[in-house]
Amino acid sequence: MTAQHPSPPFDTWLWMQAWSETWCAGLDPAGAGQRLHGQRLSRLIDATLRGSPFYRRRHPDARELADFRPVSKAELMAHFDDWATDRRINRAAAQAFVADPQCIADAWLGDYLLWTSSGTSGEPGVFVQDARSLAAYDAIDALRLRGAGPGQASLGSWGARQRFAFVGATGGHFAGLVSMERLRRLVPAALAPEIRVLSVLEPLRDVAQALQALQPSVLITYPSCAAALAQLQQRPEGSAQLRLTLKEVWMGGEQLSAEQREQIQAAFGCPVRNNYGASEFFTIAWECAHGELHLNDDWLVLEPVDEQLQPLPMGEMSHSTLLTNLANLTQPLLRYQLGDRVRRVAERCSCGSAFPLIEVQGRADDTLRLRDAQHRPVTILPLALETAIEEGAHVTQFQALCGSNGDSIELRFEASVGDARAAFTQSRRALAAFLAHHGVSGTRISMSAAEPLRQRASGKLRRVVVLPAAPVRRKPPARGPARR
Ligand SMILES: [Zn+2]
Repeated sequence: MTAQHPSPPFDTWLWMQAWSETWCAGLDPAGAGQRLHGQRLSRLIDATLRGSPFYRRRHPDARELADFRPVSKAELMAHFDDWATDRRINRAAAQAFVADPQCIADAWLGDYLLWTSSGTSGEPGVFVQDARSLAAYDAIDALRLRGAGPGQASLGSWGARQRFAFVGATGGHFAGLVSMERLRRLVPAALAPEIRVLSVLEPLRDVAQALQALQPSVLITYPSCAAALAQLQQRPEGSAQLRLTLKEVWMGGEQLSAEQREQIQAAFGCPVRNNYGASEFFTIAWECAHGELHLNDDWLVLEPVDEQLQPLPMGEMSHSTLLTNLANLTQPLLRYQLGDRVRRVAERCSCGSAFPLIEVQGRADDTLRLRDAQHRPVTILPLALETAIEEGAHVTQFQALCGSNGDSIELRFEASVGDARAAFTQSRRALAAFLAHHGVSGTRISMSAAEPLRQRASGKLRRVVVLPAAPVRRKPPARGPARR
């Protein structure tokens, strides 16, 4: 710890308390878990109405959670200075802090950890984590997400003496990166895992080369990146080769398909752990050994809602979701519009855990297979392509449609984009530079004035889509039944 870089927040007493409560709730989710849930909810409502001018003004007579109207990120960010219960917290100071990449995971105002959401869902949010919420996230990670499943040995709470490779969003105060840095700085050197951070935006062959040299024991990344690396492990791509011996793969941030899970498990032959989390609550649900998502409902409330933000019955896929974080009493989130599509599942999981099951329809964009000048395949992760356009062109409402043979990318824009032609010019420039950096050659970038394609069932927009190959036309038989 130095004067300029105070150690990340950690409270031993709160950590022990959260650990023992989380452990107890795990033994009896419906009993002890729900009792803790009730106590935490009353404490949150109390602290919020006492300490947050924003919520007090909005809900002078609120008594229970249902009395709070759903609130959006834009609304909270607009009232940032009135939002927190610690009245020292203000937007100007928080923005200045997160603008400096040197202070990632430093304690802010002596007590807090700060992180931001990325820009994919509009304006980035700035989230203040207090020691209580960090203790809850630590306990959930240690006991549930990383806990020993059947036939698995646990790597322990802190991954002592392991070699971690984190391939994720870097270059900003993003939750995943901040958490990695906090871990690196909190654990005594003799016990700490060795952590190497790599940017998921870099060409896959460079990431693979760095991983090959590092030989990590744990790979932490997005499902699309883990799947692309699994493919390299099984089948080298040009000069890119990968031979890793992993103990575990930890994933989050995107939807993990059954196909990806199989591919990752087959390639690395190790336990694969997956979670559903957000900047607003680090691990909302964790995946059990049976591949189901269990909700941490002792620490949060998740309400699937329809278009009018009204609660939905059990079993229906939601339009959006409201999150209440029961751990964070400093920057309260009550019935916060998380935006994800979630379905509550009535059945109990065959793994034996009584924590409720949910299904999440998360990001599920396609990975592109393009070519370099020598016609060798180049894998492009959808997240990297999206970020290149968002950050390079400041355009978020677009869709990239890639031809099945990888020689063309068509950009479409949502109606809300005022000047689509200008958006295209900027996006094409950013995308061309990105593709060149990845060694891609011979891919045409064009614009279409057509509406972006939406998924038939959900109406959801995928940003990066590989179009299916056109069916091969066969010659009609010379004679036979008339064809229509
Ligand atoms: Zn289960």
